[in-house]
Amino acid sequence: MIKKVDHIGIAVRSLDEALPFYTEILKLPLLGIEEVESEKLKVAFLKAGETKLELLEPTSQESAVAKFIEKRGEGLHHVALGVDSIQERINEMKEKGIRMLQDSPKIGAGGAEVAFMHPKSTGSVLYEFCEKKGLEQ
Ligand code: ZN
Repeated sequence: MIKKVDHIGIAVRSLDEALPFYTEILKLPLLGIEEVESEKLKVAFLKAGETKLELLEPTSQESAVAKFIEKRGEGLHHVALGVDSIQERINEMKEKGIRMLQDSPKIGAGGAEVAFMHPKSTGSVLYEFCEKKGLEQ
């Protein structure tokens, strides 16, 4: 089942340039910065009450986020829904005719298992399912 909005992903060209708005103006606590090699991203998580904001800086032109920024500019990238039993959720969506970008979860930021729904199946919103087994933030 879907438990909550786990985080909202925001594409930025540079974490260094984007972070002061969040940490100094909005005064959101920075939970950490990590590199997600497989996605060619540097990711910063900020705590926003019960949910989080995930700033995504591409580390290579090959990154899907780099292509997103090239096409649409910086800004809202995806909405992540926290789920349990992610593989079951993926199977369930596929049974309902929803296109998934992954047939099985991959490891994303923070060691979470993630899978994305195809925006063509969701009214143009990129939704991520994410499940953190025993690593609740
Ligand atoms: Zn995300």
